[in-house]
Amino acid sequence: MAAQREGERFPIADAHNDALLGLRVEDPVPRGQINLEGLDKGGAALVCFAAFVGARERYAHSRLQEALLLVDRFYAMVEACGFQRVTHPDQLTPGKLCALLTLEGGDALEGQLCNLRVLYALGARMLALTWSNDNELGCGCNAKEDSGLTRTGLEAVAEMNRLGMMVDVSHLSDRGFWQVLEASAAPPLASHSNARALCPGVARNLTDEMLAALGRKGGFVGVNAARLFLTGSQDRPATLEDMLRHLERMAALAGVEHVGLGTDFDGISSTPEGFEGCEKYQALPEALLRRNWPEAAVRGVCYQNFVDYWRRVLECRPAKGRA
Ligand SMILES: [Zn+2]
Repeated sequence: MAAQREGERFPIADAHNDALLGLRVEDPVPRGQINLEGLDKGGAALVCFAAFVGARERYAHSRLQEALLLVDRFYAMVEACGFQRVTHPDQLTPGKLCALLTLEGGDALEGQLCNLRVLYALGARMLALTWSNDNELGCGCNAKEDSGLTRTGLEAVAEMNRLGMMVDVSHLSDRGFWQVLEASAAPPLASHSNARALCPGVARNLTDEMLAALGRKGGFVGVNAARLFLTGSQDRPATLEDMLRHLERMAALAGVEHVGLGTDFDGISSTPEGFEGCEKYQALPEALLRRNWPEAAVRGVCYQNFVDYWRRVLECRPAKGRA
């Protein structure tokens, strides 16, 4: 605790939020669990903004169109809020809020890898292959019969490896998870998932074996602030302590260099007491220091582990694909 100087803040990287869903291009300033004042107060340094696209029945228009609407909001937000848009870790600038565009739900591709490349060209650097539903790439965690990834899903993983995109297994089915672990040349991440052993039956969380395998492969897992994924019940309130329990189990299995934060803010209806929004980011390092975590490990969990992971993904690109 003594190592932390008075008033010093820990830079924060948050691997997942759904703030784009609540924005309008005419008014693209986030005011939810992710909000402009809170990001500043909380010490946010690198924030991943997800363009969420779910099952086709949700939309009157195409799913690619839905992705593009959200990408448009992302660009409007970056401009209105003065964020620094980043597509490579070398662009990260201390003292600036760096915003990274990510994709949640391979539905956006509509089964076409050309759409993946176009979304990459627009700045997307992470894709969750599925949301909880099934899509052209594979089965989500709610699959009744888990047939894992499709052929197109495996092709998408290979193309993401070539491009240097982070392959996100949050929301993926169990079989799909293990296929990605085996097939992906680069380490995957679970951007916003918790430990299943602490709330059995929650398929969105990862088993101990999955957490250990992610760590061995050089991956990353971000702790999620959703009540259901922390306590196992939508009716049981969660606290910051619950987040720490999950984080500590994840760190014990995956390795402390392989865990961080993926809050899911603005994608979740209830937040933990003591960690209600991005303005409370600093409560995490403060609590970890109180639990006698070494300061270097706290810095890693708050920020550096995610950046290091991103670099490992880029290092796995085939030499020819590097630019
Ligand atoms: Zn999600």
